[in-house]
Amino acid sequence: MGNNQAYTNKPRAILHLDLDAFFCAVEVLRDPSLEGKPIVVGGASAERGVVAAASYPARKFGIHSAMPMIEASRRCKDLIIISSKHGMYKMYSKVIMGILRAESPIIQQVSIDEAYLDLSDEIDEWVQATEIARKIQLRISRDIGLSSSVGIATNKMIAKIASDFQKPKGLTVVPPGTEIQFLAPLPVKKIPGIGPKTNERLAKYGIYTVADMAKISEDKLIQRFGKLGQAMSQWARGIDDREVHEEREIKSVSTERTFAKNIDDQRALLDILENLSHKVADELKKKKLMAATISIKLRYGDFTTFTRQHTASDPIDDGKEIYRIASRLMVMNWLPGEPVRLLGVGGSHFVDPQGQLSLPL
Ligand SMILES: [Mg+2]
Repeated sequence: MGNNQAYTNKPRAILHLDLDAFFCAVEVLRDPSLEGKPIVVGGASAERGVVAAASYPARKFGIHSAMPMIEASRRCKDLIIISSKHGMYKMYSKVIMGILRAESPIIQQVSIDEAYLDLSDEIDEWVQATEIARKIQLRISRDIGLSSSVGIATNKMIAKIASDFQKPKGLTVVPPGTEIQFLAPLPVKKIPGIGPKTNERLAKYGIYTVADMAKISEDKLIQRFGKLGQAMSQWARGIDDREVHEEREIKSVSTERTFAKNIDDQRALLDILENLSHKVADELKKKKLMAATISIKLRYGDFTTFTRQHTASDPIDDGKEIYRIASRLMVMNWLPGEPVRLLGVGGSHFVDPQGQLSLPL
């Protein structure tokens, strides 16, 4: 019992790694003449696109991801706009995740350029986590040529805040027992989970820093913020019990309908397709994903089934747009008049609304 107790009380060593301005850094790597220049990576269309990623020199102009490209160009006359090459970023990401995997069997990739590692069982002394972090950062910079920032703490929340603490090329270590001290002076919006809206609401109550938040009782936080309030109370005390685990990848979002009676009327089929397209759009929005590839599935009365897909130049989550692609795929591939028993619509090849590929493995 005594030994077990000691073991379970051993503080966890969680590492969070985030690549610095990843998409832009890859572009600079491929074309060194871009070094030090204000560049942004974004969608194909300069008029309608949004910034997916901005280099540090571009950020000096107040340019940030999710900003309309037009606004970004207005802020910086010399801005270099590069259309994003997701396939290439994914390739780099895979190699980097391989480097991480070599250091710990427990790794959770949370986006194309971000991952958690649980080093607890890899080390005897907590401080050894720092050596592993340095080794990883060195390998990523020496072998790949990219820079990264790392945070190490006893839980995921604090490790993530720490990796953002001294970007770029940062290494921030929050040793066991110093969690509250580290968090206290930080603005509450630094806590992942507190977005701009919640931040505003907290400000109305005079809660600006984590220390302010820690002064409010859990009951009061729950009374004002419901379930989120309960989480806030934990966050303010530096508590986060979430484990590092491989997340099951969402590969596609799709929906389909089998008809009670086969349908051979084009208008009726298109109506159903439209309905399915909006359902896929709702699902994408709920999961905060945008799909670059839209597919349809069609099964004839004799059970012959085919799928067709189209990859859009810009990822989408809009029902009308999904329907536009899906209906074209159907009209081009359906044998007119042939009875259909099942119709489906799907979205895949995801990009999150910040323009970074989600769950890319
Ligand atoms: Mg990053």
